[in-house]
Amino acid sequence: MTLLRPEWRRKRAQMQDQQSTAKAAIPDVDLMGMIGLLPADEHERFLRVREFLQRRVRPESIGFWNREEFPFELLPELAELGLGELQVDGSSLLFKGLMYFEVARADVSLSALVGIHNELIVGMIDRLGSAAQRERWLPGLRSFRELGAFALTEPDHGSDIAGGLETTAELVDGEWVINGAKRWIGSGTIADFALVWARDVADQRIKGFIVETDRPGYSATKIEHKMGLRIMQNAHIVLDQVRIPEANLLPGASDFAAANELLRDSRAWVGWQAAGIQFGTFDIARDYALERIQFGRPLAKFQLIQLSLSEILGNASASLALMLQFARMQEQGDAQMVQAAMAKATTTRLARESVAKGRALLGGNGVTSDYEMAKLFGDAEILYSYEGTYEINSLIVARAMTGVGAFV
Ligand SMILES: Cc1cc2nc3c(=O)[nH]c(=O)nc-3n(C[C@H](O)[C@H](O)[C@H](O)COP(=O)(O)OP(=O)(O)OC[C@H]3O[C@@H](n4cnc5c(N)ncnc54)[C@H](O)[C@@H]3O)c2cc1C
Repeated sequence: MTLLRPEWRRKRAQMQDQQSTAKAAIPDVDLMGMIGLLPADEHERFLRVREFLQRRVRPESIGFWNREEFPFELLPELAELGLGELQVDGSSLLFKGLMYFEVARADVSLSALVGIHNELIVGMIDRLGSAAQRERWLPGLRSFRELGAFALTEPDHGSDIAGGLETTAELVDGEWVINGAKRWIGSGTIADFALVWARDVADQRIKGFIVETDRPGYSATKIEHKMGLRIMQNAHIVLDQVRIPEANLLPGASDFAAANELLRDSRAWVGWQAAGIQFGTFDIARDYALERIQFGRPLAKFQLIQLSLSEILGNASASLALMLQFARMQEQGDAQMVQAAMAKATTTRLARESVAKGRALLGGNGVTSDYEMAKLFGDAEILYSYEGTYEINSLIVARAMTGVGAFV
């Protein structure tokens, strides 16, 4: 379903009358049958969620994206579909990944919300939290009644955050006192708590803390005018003498290395998003190529347009195939940071290429979000740079393959 301007809708209706037989013959985009790898019950659930996302989320997301607004009203419906608890409801890793993929195909910002929520918030509290923290937060998180924000990046430290992190935590009279600043933090202005990574001044280790956002000294300012992921409310956060109970330290996160496995998986999660955005790109480009008439015939009739369509679908399918193999390695316990980094870097490089081809295919209409493609074009840039930039992930791969680190 492509979102078309009124005159296009009329033209499309006329064309559909004339070409109904040809339209009916258009095959599903999953040429390699990858969705079919899901077992029957998950496959049925997947199709139900897809229908909802395409019907309810995708059309409305353009307006929210343009206005940089968060669609709070969608949260109960997303919760109803189980998207708030993918991490802990016993879903297979393949299903979870394909959910991230399918949400991204409809809207990348929402897939960022669902992914960060499951991988970095629910996952961290479930695996690294205390019994009391799990009891306090998991029910609200699972039903999207409450949200968390993952606060690692700082104004002066992005790629070098592991070594450079400056936010401090000091245990004073049975309370942690947190000081510092965080930047780019997703949901930072709307979350109930932030999972803040800070350096314990006593032992210099980086630890994870639950900081409720209504604590005195916590302030979050929305970062506006982003070129992509505009629905996600990213924040600049200042932590000024924020006092939290001693019990707000995540017991399993008393060392940054403890979070490594979850950070590896969240890196790979972006690969599912990158595959999803490319299938979304193909959906839009194919519809447009069939509908837009130039030189008296649909664009789809021109060989160069067919080449672009074929390349976009090839990139998209290769990205999804890479992610399916990554999920298989995760299931077998074989996935390491190097594979996550390779999957993230490769799929986002291909996504950038695919959206550029899609944008060009729509000509002038490719530069306005009214035709949706420009939204995907901007979103792909974020995928390329967050959760470890393309360059940093490439350095991780090449270090593993040569034994030589080239970061500094
Ligand atoms: C929309 C958005 C959402 C985000 N959400 C979150 C979030 O929810 N929580 C969170 O904690 N963070 C979040 N981030 C932060 C994100 O992870 C960082 O932007 C990312 O890690 C890069 O850091 P930086 O922006 O400081 O870039 P820098 O580290 O300053 O890098 C700038 C450029 O230099 C390159 N570079 C850096 N070091 C090297 C090197 N050694 N060799 C070669 N090239 C190098 C980089 O690849 C990049 O091209 C988000 C970012 C964005 C844009």
